[in-house]
Amino acid sequence: MLKGKVALVTGSTSGIGLAIARALAREGADLMLNGFGEAQAIEKTRAGLEAEFGVKVGWSGADLSQPAAVAGLVEYAVRRLGGVDILCNNAGIQHTAPIERFPPEKWDAIIGVNLSAAFHAMRVAVPHMRKKGWGRIVNTASVHGLVASVEKSAYVAAKHGLVGLTKVVALETAGSGITCNAFCPGFVLTDLIRPQIEAKASKVGGDFAAGTRELLADKQPSKQLVTVEQIAAYIVFLCSDAAAQITGTALPLDGGWTAQ
Ligand code: NAD
Repeated sequence: MLKGKVALVTGSTSGIGLAIARALAREGADLMLNGFGEAQAIEKTRAGLEAEFGVKVGWSGADLSQPAAVAGLVEYAVRRLGGVDILCNNAGIQHTAPIERFPPEKWDAIIGVNLSAAFHAMRVAVPHMRKKGWGRIVNTASVHGLVASVEKSAYVAAKHGLVGLTKVVALETAGSGITCNAFCPGFVLTDLIRPQIEAKASKVGGDFAAGTRELLADKQPSKQLVTVEQIAAYIVFLCSDAAAQITGTALPLDGGWTAQ
């Protein structure tokens, strides 16, 4: 379905981003991966995707907290692979603390990676999409783009901002063949939430499964984690012709969290 398209997925060396990248490659898209990690492991992932799906796969370690690096990443993908038709602004970081103890440098970092990077990437990618008259922008927001939780001031601010930014770009690109959507996962088992599960688990003798149950009990009515594969399948749908009129949305994938 996506043969001839190029997808740039930020934060795709692990977790949700890697699953999205895999699913887009399975549909035939060439890929630009981005994110941090151990060089050998990243190269194994990169080469593995190329071999498994017969697509071109590049990687850049651009640090998305740096605006110039974000712009450079988009231009690198265009030079190396011939465009950015699908842009998934997915990289994200978390820090939890009450407002009076929230470190200002963590605030800046979270706003930088989770919100400003999406602005810088879209700013540079949209003109390339306009030239082709087709584009798909998918921003990884969160239930925390729709509702709040304690001790997540920067994350909630960034994700609410990202949902708003998504709507603006959707309006500005409406009718041009480009769509811009966000999606809002509840708890997904990735490195990002592992510390939150471990914190709960430590209160019940280190039992990871019990920690997971406790984390979900607070918020996610299904009592089941969202899987990265479920998310990736939704992103593939957003890239299809069937989704050509879906733009400016922020769909929860959250086991009922935001229905409460
Ligand atoms: P993850 O930690 O597995 O992935 C984060 C990715 O971002 C990694 O590839 C990492 O290397 C990359 N990254 C971090 N800082 C970066 C930087 N400065 N520059 C470039 N890359 C950077 O976590 P994940 O859960 O897969 O998170 C992906 C996205 O999903 C994030 O935006 C997160 O906020 C969002 N999300 C996650 C959950 C969840 O429960 N896991 C829920 C809702 C939303």
